[in-house]
Amino acid sequence: MDLSYTPEEEAFRAKVRKWLQDNVPAHDQNRTLESARAWQRKLHEGGFLGAAWPKEYGGAGLSEMEQAILNEEMVRARAPQPINQMAIWWVGPALMKHGTEEQKKRFIPRILTCEEIWATGYSEPSSGSDMAAARTSAVRDGDFYVVNGQKIWTTLAHISDWYFILVRTSTEGPKWAGLTMLLMDLKSPGVSIKPIKQIDGGSEFNEVFMTDVRVPVANRLGDEGQGWEVVSSALVNERSGIAGSIRADQSLEWIVTTARQQGKTRDPNVRQKIADLAIKGSIMRCAGLRSMTDSLNQRLNPHLSAAMKLMGTLLVQEFSETGVELLGPYGCLMNDSRAPFEGKWSKQYLGDRSMTIAGGTSEVQRNIVAQRVLGLPRR
Ligand SMILES: Cc1cc2nc3c(=O)[nH]c(=O)nc-3n(C[C@H](O)[C@H](O)[C@H](O)COP(=O)(O)OP(=O)(O)OC[C@H]3O[C@@H](n4cnc5c(N)ncnc54)[C@H](O)[C@@H]3O)c2cc1C
Repeated sequence: MDLSYTPEEEAFRAKVRKWLQDNVPAHDQNRTLESARAWQRKLHEGGFLGAAWPKEYGGAGLSEMEQAILNEEMVRARAPQPINQMAIWWVGPALMKHGTEEQKKRFIPRILTCEEIWATGYSEPSSGSDMAAARTSAVRDGDFYVVNGQKIWTTLAHISDWYFILVRTSTEGPKWAGLTMLLMDLKSPGVSIKPIKQIDGGSEFNEVFMTDVRVPVANRLGDEGQGWEVVSSALVNERSGIAGSIRADQSLEWIVTTARQQGKTRDPNVRQKIADLAIKGSIMRCAGLRSMTDSLNQRLNPHLSAAMKLMGTLLVQEFSETGVELLGPYGCLMNDSRAPFEGKWSKQYLGDRSMTIAGGTSEVQRNIVAQRVLGLPRR
């Protein structure tokens, strides 16, 4: 196996690295929506957003390999993720795969320029892991669907313009067969968005209530009843995106700094733990290379994305648990002047709890690995 890069790829890497050095914004604790939009626009203008997407929809038309190099360099430069991340990871790819030409031309360029931010509406109060049981209904009325129901845990709905929403268009047959994907304007009459307060003080999730919301049939993605297929490939992209965003090298560096600062680098238990984390980080990197090979060969690998999502999100939790443990009782402080590292470890610890739930829980990923990789029977 040859893991080296060609001279052209190395030249591309040098170009990206230089651009990022000159352009990555300084760490900004008070990132605003406007500064986040501005950073995404800058990435796009530099030709570094949706790099492998076709030029006709505003992408840079680069190769998958160049996209992979770009991803690596973004991590290395500690560059913030674009604010329209969900649209870039899975809404855009779903539009390219299932959308009409009109839908692609209408929506994809505005995703890249951040003119329109997207949220995802799968989960409902009575269906999260069992997404196929979604009840939010869409009833055809001429050239419109009339949507009624409630979604929950919608990340960023409060700042979003559009909703990638899974709805029920039929109650006949198996539950997954009656689902359809719609592209809903979140400013439509009948949409009400209520933020949910999080344990870490933030408020990124929302409940979304819909009463007689009219969505043009032209905004259906794919065929009626094709929602399960659309959502299944979008979930693979979401899980790969979550796994790919794990910055194990940086977390490891930070753990070592914390251990040094606490004078614990000679403690045998701490040394073993750090070595263990370093090994797991390397395993994640190797799995990342496998995933990159799949994407270079245009293969969607649901099993690997489930395994990587599981492994990566457990690893981030292990990093933040170790960080908090190294700090002792001070590790519990967050908004306090005595909090080490400005409370970054405790904030991270609380935030990372959600990672094994978002995009499908660890139990659900284990079921996928058990049934589809190991061939164990479905319980
Ligand atoms: C950070 C974050 C962001 C999110 N963003 C979004 C978003 O933008 N849009 C959206 O639609 N949703 C979003 N979600 C919701 C997320 O997808 C759901 O919370 C998740 O799928 C679990 O569903 P649930 O909360 O209903 O739990 P449930 O499905 O009720 O699960 C409860 C428990 O039972 C376990 N369980 C369920 N079924 C099985 C099974 N078959 N086998 C074994 N164990 C099982 C689960 O693992 C869990 O421990 C987000 C969640 C988080 C944490």
